[in-house]
Amino acid sequence: MPTESAARSRVVVVGAGHAAITLAGLLRQAGHVGEIVMMGDELDHPYQRPPLSKKFSDGNLEQWLRPPEFYGEQDITLRLGERVLTIDVPRQHIATSSGDEHPYDVLVLATGARSRPLPVPGIELSGVGHLRTLEDARVLRKWVADGRRLVIVGGGYIGLEVAAVVRARGGEATVLEREERVLARVASADLSAIMSDRHTTEGTSIRTGVHVTGFEGAGCVSRTVLAGGARIDCDAVLVGVGAVPNDDLAVEAGLDVAPGGGVLVDGVCRTSVPSILAIGDVTSRPLPGLAATRRLESIPSATEQARQAVAAILATEPPPPETPWFWSDQFDLKLKIAGIVRPGSEIVLRGTPASGRFALFHLHDDVVVAVESANASPEFMAGKRWIGSGSRVDPKRLADPGVALRDAEV
Ligand code: FAD
Ligand code: NAP
Repeated sequence: MPTESAARSRVVVVGAGHAAITLAGLLRQAGHVGEIVMMGDELDHPYQRPPLSKKFSDGNLEQWLRPPEFYGEQDITLRLGERVLTIDVPRQHIATSSGDEHPYDVLVLATGARSRPLPVPGIELSGVGHLRTLEDARVLRKWVADGRRLVIVGGGYIGLEVAAVVRARGGEATVLEREERVLARVASADLSAIMSDRHTTEGTSIRTGVHVTGFEGAGCVSRTVLAGGARIDCDAVLVGVGAVPNDDLAVEAGLDVAPGGGVLVDGVCRTSVPSILAIGDVTSRPLPGLAATRRLESIPSATEQARQAVAAILATEPPPPETPWFWSDQFDLKLKIAGIVRPGSEIVLRGTPASGRFALFHLHDDVVVAVESANASPEFMAGKRWIGSGSRVDPKRLADPGVALRDAEV
C-alpha cells in the first residue's frame, strides 16, 4: 500500500510515448490519486510505434496507446504539442514551450529517442527521410504507394522491417549497411546471416561494409552516392541508422548521463537527482548479469521501467527484474530475442532456418544467456525462463528437436 503522501504526490511526466502512457495508467491502477500532468511535444494522439515500420504500407497506422477518453476518465492531464524546455531542479518546476510553468513533487523523464542524423551532403533533398514518428510513417506510406525505388541506409530493425514490407508489395529495396553484417547491434552473426539470406532471396539488395557519402538530385533525390564514387539510382531514401536518446534536458539540469548517452538510472528508475525519475529509451539502465548500464530501445523495457517507476513513486515493493526481450516481424518470420547477445557464446541451433522455424540458444559454460528465435514460441519461452533462472542445458539434447525442451535442462 502506498503512503498517503506518496499517493497524493504531484507527478509531471515529460513525453507522451509508450513509457509515459504506461506509467500514468499503472500509477492510477496502483492507487495514486494525486495530479498527473503529461507533456508531449508531438501533435498526434499518443500512439504505438511498432506498426510504423511493419504496417506503413496498408495497415492501420493510427493505433492509439489508449483511447482518447482514457485520459479524462483517469483524471490525467495530457498536453500535446507542448515541449518541456527547462527543468529548475532546486525549485522543482519545469517550463514549457507555451510559457507555462509546472511544479512537481516527482518529475519523470520519458523523452525517448530520436532518429540519428546522417550528416552528409544532400540529406535535405526532398524524398530523403527518417522513420520515428507517425508523421514520418505517413510520408513513407506515400513513397511506397507511388512504387518508388527505395534506398534504405542502415540494416538494423528499421531497415530490414521496411525492406520486407516493400518487397512484399513488389517494390525495389536496397539496404546499405556500414557494418559487415545486418542487425549488427542487436543480433548474433548467425542470425544476421540467416536474415540476410532470407531478405536476399526475397529480392532485397543488401550491401554491407559500404559508406554513404551523400545524395544527389534536382530538388528531389535521384541518386545515393557511396565512398569511392559509385552511385545508386533511387526515388526515395529512408535513413535508419539508429536512435539517439533525448537526454538534453537531463544534461542541462545536471543529471548524470552515461558516457555513450542516456540518463543513468538505478533498478527503480531513480536518476542522480532524488525527485527525478527516468524511463524508456532515454535511459541507460542496469541489467541482470551485466556490469555496465545499457540502453535498451524496446517496448518491453519501457513497460518494465514504467512498473519500476510506479514502485519508486509510491514507495512500494519494486517488481523483480525481468529478462530483457525484443521482437521484430519480417516477412512471415516472427523474431523473438531474449537476453543480451554477447560475443564469445557457444551457439546451439534447434530447428532449421530454411523451414522458417528455429531457435539459436547462446550458452556460456552450458548456461543459457540469450535465445534468438523465429516462429518458435516454445523455444523462446523456455530460453527466456532459463536465462532468468540461470539454468544449465545439455547442448546435444537441446539441438535435437526430437528431445522435449524440458529434457534438455540438466
Ligand atoms: P518514445 O516512444 O520515443 O516517446 C517519447 C516521446 O517524448 C516522444 O513523443 C517525444 O517527441 C517526446 N519528447 C521528447 N522530448 C520532449 C520534451 N522536451 N517535451 C515534451 N515531449 C518530449 N520496440 C519493440 O519492442 N518492438 C518493436 O517492434 C518496435 N518497433 C519499432 C518501430 C519503429 C519505427 C520505431 C521508431 C521504434 C520501434 N520500437 C519497437 C521501439 C519502441 O517504439 C521504443 O522502445 C518505445 O517507443 C520507447 O518508448 P518511450 O516512451 O521511451 O519513447
Ligand atoms: P539500429 O537497430 O541501431 O540499426 C541501425 C543500423 O544502421 C546499425 O547497424 C548501424 O551500424 C547502421 N548505421 C549507422 N550509421 C550508418 C551509416 N552511416 N551508413 C550505413 N549504416 C549505418 O537502429 P534503427 O534500425 O535505425 O532503429 C531505430 C530505433 O528504432 C532503435 O531504437 C530501434 O531499436 C527501434 N526499432 C525497433 C524495432 C524492433 O524492436 N523490432 C523495429 C524498428 C525500430 P552501427 O552499429 O555501426 O552504428
